[in-house]
Amino acid sequence: MAPTGSRTIRNGCERVLYWIPVLFIVLIVAWSYYAYVLQLCVDSIEDTKEKVVYLLVYHLIFIMFIWTYWQTIFTKPMTPLKEFHLSHADKELLQREDREESQQEILRRIAKDLPIYTRTNSGAIRFCERCQLLKPDRSHHCSVCDKCVLKMDHHCPWVNNCVGFSNYKFFMQFLAYSLLYCLFITATDFQYFIKFWMNKLPDTQAKFHILFLFFSASMFSVSLAALFIYHCWLVCKNRSTLEAVRSPVFGHGTDKNGFSLGFSKNLLQVFGDESKYWPVPVFSSLGDGCSFPTGPVNLDPEQPSSPSGSSLNGATEARHYPKPLRESQSRLLISAHSWSERDNATDKDRGASNPGMVMENEA
Ligand SMILES: [Zn+2]
Ligand SMILES: [Zn+2]
Repeated sequence: MAPTGSRTIRNGCERVLYWIPVLFIVLIVAWSYYAYVLQLCVDSIEDTKEKVVYLLVYHLIFIMFIWTYWQTIFTKPMTPLKEFHLSHADKELLQREDREESQQEILRRIAKDLPIYTRTNSGAIRFCERCQLLKPDRSHHCSVCDKCVLKMDHHCPWVNNCVGFSNYKFFMQFLAYSLLYCLFITATDFQYFIKFWMNKLPDTQAKFHILFLFFSASMFSVSLAALFIYHCWLVCKNRSTLEAVRSPVFGHGTDKNGFSLGFSKNLLQVFGDESKYWPVPVFSSLGDGCSFPTGPVNLDPEQPSSPSGSSLNGATEARHYPKPLRESQSRLLISAHSWSERDNATDKDRGASNPGMVMENEA
């Protein structure tokens, strides 16, 4: 249904308001640049060598901080591939059916060929009524973005964007570089902060910038450190913030470690397997965001584990990897074929059904 005029205006106003936290951050960073570079380094530091070293290191961290912040804000969240959307015919079928059980039957038929292993708490297939799609594992519908977001972590007001599969690496880097930025300012400003209290600074406005620079940088350091440490823990455990709050449900039940592959592989999933890309905000996360490696205990025997239905060699590989949707960058997702080849299968191949699925209406 097309939005009415008043709703369009309201949505437009909301979209503008969502930028206020970002503007707040930008203004603070702009002031910190002015205070550190001009008021502290240029006007207050007399030793040329110290001045040059501070300015060089500061600008290096500053560029990385701004670059990662930019990438986190402007990298669009990835949404489920078309294979997860209901076809026009399936939508009509679903609308025609009044009985929940019949609707489930339709969803079961579609879900059968998709690499979906997680369920709702009641054991149903996760279905988004708003987007009319079957939710891939780890994806959620964001009410702010009004779409399903792959490996959604959370919607962050400070970047006015969903943090998920497409930008989680950038978000982690943003936390790391912003923490480094604040720690560097706190450390280098400290001796001038002490001089302020000992009345050893010239009586100019610079001394107040030096004072507030120390207070704000040290306070931001504490909160950023807490957030950064928490997300490092999440990366090590291969959990999103949403999964830390509510553990994913698999065929056999809830498993908070359902996606964990062990410490090093968990890190590689987010940062990629080429170390040269780890410090720079270019996309290098592994996988396609729609299917994820998971423990063998979490596999649903009725879901496609491979195009031929055969499992991977368990003797050499402790973990089972569902097939990626597209040509994947992932070397963790070892597969010879894409599961989506099964899409070419005829409908009679889709006859079997999984019991206990109901439609999920999750905001
Ligand atoms: Zn949705
Ligand atoms: Zn969002």
